[in-house]
Order: sequence, then C-alpha cells, then structure tokens
Amino acid sequence: MKYLSVSITLKDRKCLVVGTHPQAIRLVHELATQQANVFVVSHQPVSVPATITVLDREFSEADLDDCWLVIAGTGSAAENQSIKHLCDIRRLFCNVIDDVENSSWVVTDQSAEHTVATATGTAGVSDKGRVGSESTTGMVSLVGAGPGDPDLLTVRALSRIRNADAVVYDRLVSEPILALCNPDAEFVYAGKAKANHTLPQNSINALLVELAQSYSRVVRLKGGDPFIFGRGGEEIETLADQHVAFEVVPGITAASGCAAFSGIPLTHRDHAQSCIFVTGHLRDGKINLNWQELTDPQQTIVVYMGLTGLDAICQSLIQHGRSQQTPAALIEQGTKPAQRVLASTLADLPDLVAKSEVAAPTLLIIGGVVSLRDKLRWFQPEHDSS
Ligand code: SAH
Repeated sequence: MKYLSVSITLKDRKCLVVGTHPQAIRLVHELATQQANVFVVSHQPVSVPATITVLDREFSEADLDDCWLVIAGTGSAAENQSIKHLCDIRRLFCNVIDDVENSSWVVTDQSAEHTVATATGTAGVSDKGRVGSESTTGMVSLVGAGPGDPDLLTVRALSRIRNADAVVYDRLVSEPILALCNPDAEFVYAGKAKANHTLPQNSINALLVELAQSYSRVVRLKGGDPFIFGRGGEEIETLADQHVAFEVVPGITAASGCAAFSGIPLTHRDHAQSCIFVTGHLRDGKINLNWQELTDPQQTIVVYMGLTGLDAICQSLIQHGRSQQTPAALIEQGTKPAQRVLASTLADLPDLVAKSEVAAPTLLIIGGVVSLRDKLRWFQPEHDSS
C-alpha cells in the first residue's frame, strides 16, 4: 500500500472511533489533543478524556454522518471490514486497526521514520517507554491471558499488562483484555499478520529479543496458559539464549475455563480418574495421536485445536475401543458471552457440529464427565439456547 504523507487539522471536526482496541484508544487521546470532536461507539467501558463522547451501543451507519475521519477498532476483522466498506462508499478515510492493507489512512511518527503500529503492526512508534540507553535490556513477561473473560486474568497478569511498555499479542487474546493493557504501550500483533498467515515463530522469538532492547517492560500476551500448546517454551528459549531477562505468568488454560463455564468437571470420582490434554492439530493432513493411550473409559480427553479433525478424532476413538455412546462436547468461544456448547456422543457429535456453523476457538471434551453438564451447568450466555 502506498501512502502520501500529509498533515491535516481535525480541530472541531467529527472523528468516529468504533471499538476499544488499545491502539484505537491511543488515537482517541491523540485526537483529543488536536481538539477534534471525537465520538467512540462501544459497549466496553473505556477510559478517555471528558471531552470525548462515548456512545454505549452498537455501531450504526448513521454514525458516519458528518464525519471527517474514522477508525475501525473493534475486535472483529469482519466488523472492521464492513465499517471500512461503508466509509469507502462515502469517500471517508478509515484506519482499520491491525490491517494496514485495508486502511485508507495510517498515522506516521513525528520523526517520520516509522509508520505507527496502529495500522501496520510493526514495532517502533514513539519513544514512550523505551529504555534509556540502547545497551540496557528490558524484561519480557510471558503472560497467560486466560480463555477470554477478562475477569479470569490473574492479578499478576493484570498488573503486567497495565504497566507494559510493549505488548505482543495474538489472535486468541480477547478485545476486553486488550482494552485493559496500558493504552500508551507499543502494540504488535503477532497473530494473523497478513492474509491469515501467522508471523513465523522464529520472527516472534526474534521480535521479543529486539523489543527488550528498546523497552523496559515487554509483555508477550498469549491466550490461555503460555505453556499449554502455546509455544511459550520456544519463545523464552530464545530469550534465554540471548540472555534477556524473562518471567512466566501462568494463565487459566482453555480446558479449565471451558470445563468450568460449561459445567463439565474434568475429573470426578464416578467418571474419570485422569484427564489428558492432546492437540488435534493436523500435520500433513493427519492427526498424530497415540490412540491406544486414549481408550481408558475412565479418562477424560480434552482436545485443543480439534475442530478440523473432529470427524477423524471421533472415528478413531471408536475404532480403538471407546464406546460410541461416550458423551462428548464441543465448547465454542468458552467463557465469553458468545459461548455455545454442543453436547452429544462420540458417534453423533460430528453431525451436530457440521450443521451448527461453529466458529473457532473451540475445545473438545470427551468422557463420562460430559454427562454431568445437565445437572451442573450454571453459565447461561445470551446465545446458547441448548
Ligand atoms: N495456550 C492456550 C491454547 C493455545 S492452542 C491455552 O492454554 O488455552 C489454541 C486452542 O486453544 C484453540 O484451537 C482451542 O482449541 C483452544 N481455546 C483457546 N481459547 C478457547 C476458548 N475461549 N474456547 C474454546 N477453546 C479455546
């Protein structure tokens, strides 16, 4: 994308910000200092100067009336896209947070050397929070953000994100959690960098080392627990090799969060004496699991990343001896207001899921404990009518 650098004045001009992405909120503060007439549309609580109007409701097209500039900073790429589309129709400039390819304006740094992370996702915006001398190295906190509900952050995780100078986050970190991060921090999105491609793991590892050279408190924020299917180990291995100080802040892993919020205890004296966490991730189109190890009827199986391979997983378990009638549940968007639980049996769950338009992230729980949900469910999100 090519940009022309221009300076514009926004004094008394209506600017609209949709969503509370921290990068958007940082721009709200900048716009306020320019005396722009700023409106923020969001259901999330947000901390902004008193001169800003916060509209606690859904975005509607009429919000674009009389606008000069728009920032699409919701947590949803689809929603941001539809806002951008409406702006294009009205010839309105729209910055899409985390999506430089689709933004019609981006902010440039005062020194004009770097493009601001708001749209580019690159490191190096302002000098805020940078360590005094380049030779000093900061500290990296590898922080587990839990499964989505911000109340499930640990006290330490909250303190680290509030005080961070730089935050490297990925796809699984929910918008309300990002909204709790220091809005002045440098934000780098490591999740879906471009067209569904994840930043390669070695680039993330190198980025953390690089950021620690510039910032005192770098937070690597990951969904769930960083040491459970999170590649947290690989990231701090590089830090250790490069002699960068680090710490690990554990988080509530998806298995615990989803189990609790769907009323499925992972162990129970009558149903399961053990519980195993496996990944259903396909490698070369195949699931690489030791099926023999998963046949014990008294063992709960939790499958991370199991949606694509769901059919194959259920079939293989039956083939290797688990009863077709074994209760099994798929938990979608666990712990979030959009949580949905599809509960069935090993034999029937794939069909139920196929006709239910399920969206990631999802977690699969298999075993007798799933039957306890009928009695133990307590969390009633808006959308789950099951
Ligand atoms: N480190 C993370 C797991 C990363 S692997 C943790 O400890 O939870 C990513 C997988 O985690 C997803 O494919 C999904 O299976 C699971 N997951 C993470 N958050 C989830 C959520 N809120 N609801 C359901 N599954 C979730």
